Amino acid sequence: MQLHIVVAVKQVPDPDHFDGLSVDRRTGSISRAGVPLIINPLDRHALEEALRIKERLGGTVSVITMGPPLARRIIEDALAMGADRGAILCDPSFAGSDTLATARIVSAGIRNFGEFDLVICGNETVDSSTGQVPPQLAEFLNVVHVTHVRRIDMPGTERIIVERVVEGGYLTVEVKLPAVISVLKTINTFRLPSVAGIVEAAGKEIRELDASACRMFGVGDHELGLEGSPTRVLEVVESTMKRNALMMTGEPEDVAKQLVVKLRELQVI
Ligand SMILES: Cc1cc2nc3c(=O)[nH]c(=O)nc-3n(C[C@H](O)[C@H](O)[C@H](O)COP(=O)(O)OP(=O)(O)OC[C@H]3O[C@@H](n4cnc5c(N)ncnc54)[C@H](O)[C@@H]3O)c2cc1C
Repeated sequence: MQLHIVVAVKQVPDPDHFDGLSVDRRTGSISRAGVPLIINPLDRHALEEALRIKERLGGTVSVITMGPPLARRIIEDALAMGADRGAILCDPSFAGSDTLATARIVSAGIRNFGEFDLVICGNETVDSSTGQVPPQLAEFLNVVHVTHVRRIDMPGTERIIVERVVEGGYLTVEVKLPAVISVLKTINTFRLPSVAGIVEAAGKEIRELDASACRMFGVGDHELGLEGSPTRVLEVVESTMKRNALMMTGEPEDVAKQLVVKLRELQVI
């Protein structure tokens, strides 16, 4: 059977424009209005890894996202990078989903593609950055998972050997497929979409899935969105940073000496 790799991608605000984000104190959700949206950077590394495996072993790479209608753009972007087909899970009833509901919905979307061998995710996102979605996805798909992966070696289509980063080193883990893996940015340098890739992407399939796709795989309406989310944002607190400026004047040597004295006083050195 042909290898099938699914890459889960999330649309996030561009980190270069994070100063344009604001938090709705009442709902605890992030307002992204006016901020450019991109593929979560780690998800590009996840896609790159899937494309490299496909280049060696053949097969199909599918990309999937749950998000608002505009998230279709990141699927188009992923198709231009080389993915074969995409799916967007979009329904008003998905709004307010926490990580558990998100993983439940995305897992139904993955099942909609049929059998899979490997799901590759980013290790975390740049906006919510919980890192919870990949292990939850694995649970809903009833397969094993490995997080913090910096290298994937795939000798065949039955198993993979991965390096998982831990404090002070790494573990080498052998995993029987199917599995969910979440990757770190050190895993590869990702390619950018080529002009030919952008043209080809226009002819590739993008499935539009709504709540009925979840129902097909046994997910009830009460398990979606806010209702299906056991976590609630109770409070959002903005941290404030206080800075004390100290001007030092004089000749450069004197200033350097003053600086050393001050840094020692503050126990920085
Ligand atoms: C009570 C509550 C309400 C919320 N309401 C909203 C809301 O209304 N609107 C909103 O935008 N966010 C909302 N969120 C945030 C939302 O839960 C997270 O954005 C989402 O669950 C993903 O979590 P994360 O970004 O921490 O993913 P992580 O676990 O850090 O992501 C790791 C990887 O999982 C995959 N992944 C994550 N999310 C998706 C996705 N959506 N589609 C495909 N793959 C994915 C990607 O590969 C990603 O790199 C809410 C959170 C809570 C707790």
